[in-house]
Amino acid sequence: MSTQNPVFIPGPTNMPEHLRRACDLPTMDHRSAAFADILHPALAGVKAVLKSDKAEVFVFPATGTAGWEAAITNTLSPGDTVLAARNGMFSHKWIDMCTRHGLHVQQIDVPWGEGLPVDAFAEALAADSSHKIKAVLATHNETATGVVSDIKGVRAALDAANHPALFFVDGVSSIGSMNFEFDAWGVDIAVTGSQKGFMLPAGLAIIGVSPKAMAAIDGATLPRTFLDIRDMAKGYEANAYPYTPSVGLLNGLKIGSQMLLDEGLDNVFARHARIADGVRAAVGAWGMELCAVSPDLYSNTVSAIRTPEGFDAGRIVSHAADAYGVAFGAGLGDVAGKVFRIGHLGMLTDVMALSGIATAEMVMADLGLDVTLGSGVAAAQSVYRAGRTQSAMAAE
Ligand SMILES: *Cc1c(COP(=O)(O)O)cnc(C)c1O
Repeated sequence: MSTQNPVFIPGPTNMPEHLRRACDLPTMDHRSAAFADILHPALAGVKAVLKSDKAEVFVFPATGTAGWEAAITNTLSPGDTVLAARNGMFSHKWIDMCTRHGLHVQQIDVPWGEGLPVDAFAEALAADSSHKIKAVLATHNETATGVVSDIKGVRAALDAANHPALFFVDGVSSIGSMNFEFDAWGVDIAVTGSQKGFMLPAGLAIIGVSPKAMAAIDGATLPRTFLDIRDMAKGYEANAYPYTPSVGLLNGLKIGSQMLLDEGLDNVFARHARIADGVRAAVGAWGMELCAVSPDLYSNTVSAIRTPEGFDAGRIVSHAADAYGVAFGAGLGDVAGKVFRIGHLGMLTDVMALSGIATAEMVMADLGLDVTLGSGVAAAQSVYRAGRTQSAMAAE
């Protein structure tokens, strides 16, 4: 695998050189004033990226998966019911984690490629007059299928039922690349990791916690130690951690969140929308279809592309790696072998995206698929040229 080619997996994402250097620090006393100058700007940066005034941000030396675990173990008790839908690998794994922790999952199964079933959530919440459901789990962007869901709609369903359940959102593959509004959407815990929208190496579980979720912590009896938010909060008051923090990664988070804010969050989201539009134009030019079943569900951070019936999509991923040193995402779970994924989250430009589209074309042509070389590239070029013209005009 070439170390110079960009990656097109949906995380870990491409690291800007600037951020790689930000993570490379000499050993530092993590109880010193210098550490406080890393920690607090990093937390404040995440909070701004979440578009929140009220979230408390906690960062664990772990990955997004631990963020799921921090959300449930800090706020729930054994036997509690959570409401969740399963529409891809990541929602599936979060549900599995809840089950393993002794929670009861009221599960709604949805075909992979569809979004979270807002109407079914609304029905389930309205029917739950005794408020057995303690939390609603929602995966904002299903990375396995390239499907974005309507988080605002799930919030509206909670509100319409006047339901007090906590609202937990997995934003691992959306936060920092697609619009995410912690306060406006009434999110109680948002979960992400360092290696996706924040453009860093893996190693940080990042969560935003609402005052309502903070208030649930003392009454919750699921066991937690390493991920106990109370210990972390006490640490932060003393500018420290309850254990040894990943200082270099936290410095990366400080600089990385600042990079997003400097570009302007809405500009970052527009960049991802444009890049994704180009990828989708290419997919159309190849005569192929996305796994996501309708345009309102198309993700701006990852496209899962269906390959022709009877063709093993995994061959695209392995041939791209072997022949061209480029990484695409494989299909997972129910769609293994049926889709390959082009990840376009994190640090990506139009020009980088074109190289991925061009590579995918070479790979598919090599494997005998009926794809005209240059067709997808040309389609994406049109999108990117039009986008450039727009932004140039906006700048004038
Ligand atoms: C990557 C991902 C995760 C898992 O995060 P890790 O950092 O690998 O533990 C969870 N949810 C979604 C939507 C993801 O894309």
